[in-house]
Formats: sequence, structure tokens, C-alpha cells
Amino acid sequence: MRGGHKYIFVVGGVMSGVGKGVATSSIGRLLEEKGYPVNLMKVDPYLNVDAGTMNPTEHGEVFVLDSGLETDQDMGNYERFLNRTLGPENYMTSGMVYKAVIDRERNLGYGGKCVEAIPHVRDEIVERIVRAAEASRSAVSVIEIGGTVGDFQNAMFIEAARYLKLEHPEDVLFVMVAYLPVPKSIGEMKTRPAQHAMQMLSSYGVQADILIGRSELPLDARRKEKLAVSCNMRPEAVISAPDVDSIYDVPLNFEKDGLSDLLLKSLGLEAKGGEGHAAWKELAAKAHNGSRSVDIAIVGKYFDTGDFVLSDAYISVIEAIKFSSYAQGLKPSITWLNAKEFESGKLPLETLKKYGGVIVPGGFGETGIEGKLKVIEYVRREKIPYFGLCYGMQLMVVESARNVAGLKGAHTTEIDPATKYPVIAIMESQKKNVAEQNYGGTMRLGAYPCALEKGSVASEAYEGASRISERHRHRYEVNPEFIPAIEKTGLVFSGKSPDGILMEIAELPRSVHPFFLGTQFHPEFLARPLSPHPLFSEFIRVASGGK
Ligand code: GLN
Repeated sequence: MRGGHKYIFVVGGVMSGVGKGVATSSIGRLLEEKGYPVNLMKVDPYLNVDAGTMNPTEHGEVFVLDSGLETDQDMGNYERFLNRTLGPENYMTSGMVYKAVIDRERNLGYGGKCVEAIPHVRDEIVERIVRAAEASRSAVSVIEIGGTVGDFQNAMFIEAARYLKLEHPEDVLFVMVAYLPVPKSIGEMKTRPAQHAMQMLSSYGVQADILIGRSELPLDARRKEKLAVSCNMRPEAVISAPDVDSIYDVPLNFEKDGLSDLLLKSLGLEAKGGEGHAAWKELAAKAHNGSRSVDIAIVGKYFDTGDFVLSDAYISVIEAIKFSSYAQGLKPSITWLNAKEFESGKLPLETLKKYGGVIVPGGFGETGIEGKLKVIEYVRREKIPYFGLCYGMQLMVVESARNVAGLKGAHTTEIDPATKYPVIAIMESQKKNVAEQNYGGTMRLGAYPCALEKGSVASEAYEGASRISERHRHRYEVNPEFIPAIEKTGLVFSGKSPDGILMEIAELPRSVHPFFLGTQFHPEFLARPLSPHPLFSEFIRVASGGK
């Protein structure tokens, strides 16, 4: 292991879903602003080898890296806060770890030994963490351990972290993010659950160095002292993290309690005078100061288990809308419209007139598809700005084929394998995967180059660039056989793979429609608060009626 590299492990206490990912991202941001390059890592305790096979209603959005690895949505937050691309070594699941150990065992890689959780699984985890730290050439790694202390599933990761600290006591720090309830019937913030979480962590042999107290309200001096005494730390090491309207306020809130100095001091590091907080402060302020509102409707389908799940399923799309709006001094307002309700007629299409722009995001399968097609036809005819992301682009092509080219019953073979007009079809290389039910990690995934047509809406949005790189996650493509018929409808394929075979962007010229554009890739994965995505920015500009 490279000497001097520092490791901060972030663990959760009391309950999940209190913003451990944002806390980790914020720690990364703050340390970078103080001059220390940071490597952010996520550890997910589930047995899936990657996040790709999980339904978004189960686990939120699947975030895709440049490498094509399908990961947890926290990786999206990391990239957004760091304003940087992360590698596949920065993500780890139990499934990945166990698979590597078992594969090595099958190859006699353990030389005939009995293979056991300790030391073999633990060492595999430690090696992956150290490898990621080295690949990143950063000074500090911040590793978020998924789940909550006391879970059966994440215990091995905490054990690996403990072991790393045992070997390098000066270089490893533990931060607990614990929830402090303020029960309405009592009207007072209670520290006991957090104390218990810290005790639970101690029972693993780990003493947390810093406690981040997540609560509806800020922690007062009394709570901090109480926690400090019972958790064996100084009151300065208890950081207050109250609820915020915008997650981009979190780093600034942490600074109110001096978190970055505390982290540096605890790690024995000096502040080096990095870029400072100015850029982030400005961004955080913009999130509150939008003067005019821009109303965007997202027509999707991952609604079935309630609003919370829904916004999680499309988190990168939501954030992408925010960044482009903030940059233009706008206040975004996002409305969720269920595609199924357009299908049944429960929601009239005229509803769409209320919005400055409509997005159909990525998706899979049949649910709500005819509703989405109706929506696309309506916004095309009514000249309402439209942005189609992946499935939203494929359905744009299906709609034009059916309603403009007159190819009745045209479809994607994902839904209708027997259609007479398979305008969206599976790539030859994918047929085998589907036939063999080989679904995990086999889509067209990750960053691919795309050549842009000069003078198109897309190329202008990208400021005249002739070649871009964007991230993908799909199995189906525009069928080359039907390209001439589709182009006759007026739809222009303004972005293609450099060999000209795969259609990456479809659009109507500005003379025909103010903004009607779809991308086979997922632009939302590269939208960052400090560098909004050009296509989202152009869509928002038109949707807000701006110049
Ligand atoms: N279901 C489509 C495909 O597999 C689109 C995928 C997506 O929207 N991410 O190609």
C-alpha cells in the first residue's frame, strides 16, 4: 500500500436514506476545495454483481459510468459534486467481491487452502479499496459503506475498514452519519438512537472519529455535548446537518461547523489552499435565487410505489434540469405525469399545454408505451418543446414512422417482435444475449463517441463541436433499414456513431419545431452542477421561452 494515502470511511447509523451519499460527496468536495484531490468510493452490500439488473422502483436510478459499469445513484452524486468522471474501481458490491473470490478459488488461486470470509473476502475488499486509491492518484479516499450499522450484510466491509485502520492507524478515519429524530409528541431532539448506533459500531471494534448528526433541525450545544460524552468524542467532532431545501447547501452547512478543518486535523494534514469555496457558493445561491420559473413535465412510468421512489428513479434527469435552469437564472418546477394515465385517457393531452417543455426519459418494457407515443405525437403537432432520452428518442422514431411515414403498426421489437415495421430493433450482437437470457452487463453501456452534423440543433447546442462522447444504456437501436423512410418524415439524424451506422440523435429542424430532439444516449449522466449539459441547457432555454 502506498504510504501516506488517507482513508475516510463513512458509515450510517439509526436508519438509511438520511443522506449518507450527499454527506460523502460533500466531504469530497470540501477536501478538494482545500487542495486535496479526493477519490470517492461506494460500497454496496447487496449480492448483485452490479446495479444493472435492479428495477429502479427497487433501488432508484442505475447510474452508468464512462466505463459502462452500472452503479448505484450515489456514484452520480459523487461525480456531480466532484465535477469529475470516476472509474469502475470506485464502485464495489458484495456480489462483485464474492464473485472474484469464488472465481479465484475455482482457478486454484488460493493454492489448495480453505477459502474463508476472514481473511480471503476481507482481503479482497481491502485490496479493491487500495487499488482504487492508487488508480485515482488522489490524496484521500472517502469510502461510503452502504446500509446501516448493525445490518448483517455490511459487517464484512466494516471489518475490512477496521483491519485497514489496525494496519495504518494514522491514515484511517471513521465518520458516522446518524439520524436524530424530533418526535412531534415530545417536541425535543432525541440523541439516544444515535448513541446506540455508535455503541453498535464500537462492538465491531471501531470508534468513530466524527459524528454527523442528521436531523430536521440543527443540533444545539446541549445535544452535541451529550453525544460527545456518551460517544467518547469531543463536542467539536459532532457536526450538525439539518434538513436543507437544496442538497448543494450541504457542503456549506458542514463548513459552518468546521468540518473540513476537522477532517484535515484528524488526518494530520495541512490546508493547502485549493480552489476554495467560491464556485460552489455561487452555485448554491443560484439554486435559491431563480427569478422566473420554467415548468417541465416528465412523462414516465416508475411511479408505482409512490413519489419518493419516483424521483429516485430519475434523479440524474432532475438534477440535469436543475443545473441548466440555475445557470439561466430560472427556478425549475418539475411535474410527474404518469404515461399510463394518458393511455387510458384519464389525463387529457391538453394538460401538456401547461408546460414549457416535456421529457420522456429512459425506460424499458411495455407499460405506458402507447401513452408516451400519444404524448410525443401531441407535442410534435402542438410544437411544445420535447426532449427524448434513450427510450424517449426511440419512441420519437416510432411515432414519426407511424403517424408521418404512414407505417401502420411500426414499433420497437422490444415490445412487438412481430411488427411489420421494426423501426427500432435489436442489434445483431445482442440477439445471442437475449436468446441466452444473458442480461447482466450486456447492454450497449458507457461512453461512445458521436459525430454531429454541422448546423443542426444538436451541434449548435454543443457549440459547434463535431464530435462528442456520451454515456449509453440500451439494447435496441434505430433499424438502419428504415432510416430513409424516417428521414423522409423530416426527422434528421444529427448525431451518429463515427462509422455512420448507429443513430445517436434525432431532431426536427428549428424551422419546423422549436425543440423536438431525442438522444439514444443518456445526457443526464454527464450533467454537472458546475458544468450543465448543453442539450439540457438548450431545451430549458427554449422551454422557458428565452432567447
Ligand atoms: N428499452 C430501450 C432499450 O433497451 C431503451 C433503454 C433506455 O431507455 N435506457 O434499448
